Amino acid sequence: MSLEFLPDAIEGIYFVTILLFIVALKRMSSPATARSGIVAAGAAMLVAAVATVFTPGLSSGNFLWMAVAVLVGGSLAWIAAKRVKMTDMPQMVAIYNGLGGGAAAAVAAVELVIHADALAYLSLAVAGAIIGSVTFTGSLVAFLKLQGWMRQRPIVYAGQQVTNMVVLSLAAIFGVLLLAFPGLAGSVPALASVGFLPWVFLWALLFGFLVALPIGGADMPVVISLFNAMTGVAVAFDGLSLQNDAMIIAGTLVGAAGSLLTLLMAKAMNRSVSNVLFGAFGAVEETGTQMAGSLKPIEASDVAVMMAYAGKVIIAPGYGMAVAQAQHKVKELMDVLEQKGVTVKFAIHPVAGRMPGHMNVLLAEAGVPYDRLFDRDEINPEFASADVVLVIGANDTVNPAARRAGSPLQGMPILDVDQAKNVIVLKRGQGKGFAGVENDLFYKDNTRMLYGDAQETVTKLVQELKKL
Ligand code: NDP
Repeated sequence: MSLEFLPDAIEGIYFVTILLFIVALKRMSSPATARSGIVAAGAAMLVAAVATVFTPGLSSGNFLWMAVAVLVGGSLAWIAAKRVKMTDMPQMVAIYNGLGGGAAAAVAAVELVIHADALAYLSLAVAGAIIGSVTFTGSLVAFLKLQGWMRQRPIVYAGQQVTNMVVLSLAAIFGVLLLAFPGLAGSVPALASVGFLPWVFLWALLFGFLVALPIGGADMPVVISLFNAMTGVAVAFDGLSLQNDAMIIAGTLVGAAGSLLTLLMAKAMNRSVSNVLFGAFGAVEETGTQMAGSLKPIEASDVAVMMAYAGKVIIAPGYGMAVAQAQHKVKELMDVLEQKGVTVKFAIHPVAGRMPGHMNVLLAEAGVPYDRLFDRDEINPEFASADVVLVIGANDTVNPAARRAGSPLQGMPILDVDQAKNVIVLKRGQGKGFAGVENDLFYKDNTRMLYGDAQETVTKLVQELKKL
């Protein structure tokens, strides 16, 4: 049977998968449709991978290896994704993204050996190799920091930026040498090990490792998003080198989406991307800030009475709600309050928690309807008319210090919770937020502190409310 139609059929399938990727991305932009977007993207990836196996000219001897790799990798990823805790999601994304970058670099390495005589292929492959390698080790450091297996605070030393620049330049120089003398790299495979190829990888891998060191654990999600964009770009370069349309377009989509997300996150933190990358934010903790006023504790029973007779309660969740896994109890609290005729709204800050959409995901998981969630611009005008604002494990995102000149948070757009008649802050103790800055809110006259793990305190609130 003639298989001449195969290349066209594969191109056709790639076209459909690309359309699916675009639809998937669009659907991921709303919590209501995100789940179906993920399923669509996964299905498109599966179809594209299966179609690739039928590419004419693939050596059939490799099929077994490919099947084993898919089986082992797929099973490990499936088990890990099923088991991962919601709060550990950023490091899971980091490690998977790093593996994607590593795979892109490996594909580039093979291309460099096969096409050692064609400059156009080579230069694209060199770019893919450098970007993929940087992403691989950078994401690995991100994973280690977030997992707590490496010092989370920024690791800084004298001459760090210069060292990084030298290492990156060395990767680029060896890349150029590879292009100038390609024969050394691979046209004679036996010489590959002594050619320039390993050096390109070595310096690029080292750069990825070094560039991630001065980035604090909590800044990592922004950097992971940037690495994610870079993986996309590396894949697109590989696609150009391999003449594979699916890789070119999927890589470009990831590159564009990752870059936009990086910029959005940096904007919501009121930081520039270069400040996140090179600012070593959090290396020095703010100390000695004298706060006016005092911390005023309150009992759960008193908060319950306050809320039961309120017209409107706004809940502002943050990272602490994720740590406490309090979202299901928070949903119960919403239900009890609504049964008592209280209007309940959720104020969602774009960088609350530790990853984009963190609060939306947790609250959706607990069954809080999307129409109760309001973003910062929508909810800020409403705080002044709220009887009670419940701050559950949020700190930086509600810190009025952002309005104070000279504060590390200066200029960060915050939730204006301090405008409410009563503010109740649920946290365990004196712990600071991610930025390590004292919170002016806690010392205000209209603020009371309800201490304890958020899951326990919200449970108490529900119990007390049910008694009323
Ligand atoms: P923060 O990280 O500022 O503060 C969290 C607070 O939760 C702490 O004050 C802590 O106080 C409290 N807490 C921790 N565990 C518990 C618990 N079990 N029960 C009750 N309270 C708890 O939170 P925000 O969400 O307000 O701010 C997020 C920060 O992370 C921002 O600075 C943002 O820029 C940054 N960031 C966000 C990213 C994102 O994509 N969302 C990405 C990168 C950074 P205590 O220890 O006293 O309990």
